[in-house]
Amino acid sequence: MGNDGGSIPDRRDLVRSKKKAEAVDKANQTRARWGFCALSKRRLQEPVVSCALGKLYNKDAIIEFLLNRDAYGDGENICGHIRSLKDVKTLVLTPNSAPAASGTDPTERTLFVCPLTYKEMNGLTPFVYLRTCGCVFAAAGLNAVRSSPPESQGEPEKDTCPNCATKFTHSIDCIPLNPSADEEERLRELMAAQRLVEPVKKSKKRKAAAADITSEPVAKKSAVPTISTASNSLRSTLALEEAKRKANMSDAVKTLYSSQELGRKETFMTRGTFTRYA
Ligand SMILES: [Zn+2]
Repeated sequence: MGNDGGSIPDRRDLVRSKKKAEAVDKANQTRARWGFCALSKRRLQEPVVSCALGKLYNKDAIIEFLLNRDAYGDGENICGHIRSLKDVKTLVLTPNSAPAASGTDPTERTLFVCPLTYKEMNGLTPFVYLRTCGCVFAAAGLNAVRSSPPESQGEPEKDTCPNCATKFTHSIDCIPLNPSADEEERLRELMAAQRLVEPVKKSKKRKAAAADITSEPVAKKSAVPTISTASNSLRSTLALEEAKRKANMSDAVKTLYSSQELGRKETFMTRGTFTRYA
């Protein structure tokens, strides 16, 4: 077929070219996911952070997003699950020191490698980061040096980071970077489960703090009933109770405001569930 002026592409030609286009598209997506910030779409530049879902971001983009959640149009879709800098981990990355091949597009060059295997972090091999210390490895490299057997059951296994010696639990602290759809679903469930535990702790603290603040007015109140018991009229007792309740309520409201004032001292670095559960 060719150059005879009468060639008509058949189905095979069309399907093949479509597949090729898809492959190019996929390669571009892979390059974008591993070399560019998922939020700002700018080239990854340290400090690089990752979230509970293993996406890669430039830290400055995340800070910008936390200061103004509308800074990026689709920010909420991409990283709406990030509430504060506590929800991301700064990654400890190993720069790719191999010289770039001449004539290649600098944006094509892989930025980071695994410190154990020197495999390039370009989406061809799975990479993970440790939630405890932020060190990044090729999954295969980390598995090869694990101190506990991967198949151990029952007791949660404790491993040591081969880069910085921080202890970690493989099953929960090892987060795949740019995970597959299935893995991302698992990470989402893990994140949801961990967040269910988080706010309970904080609201208990808040309640305890509120109790401390209100304990004084409550003590004052206990002195009052002698007056109400002296009164024979039930109605006046009730009225007194009501007045007391109101007075007490305003105290409670005051403490609420004062605790909010305390809350305002926190920066965007620590802002998160406090405001949400206030
Ligand atoms: Zn480490």
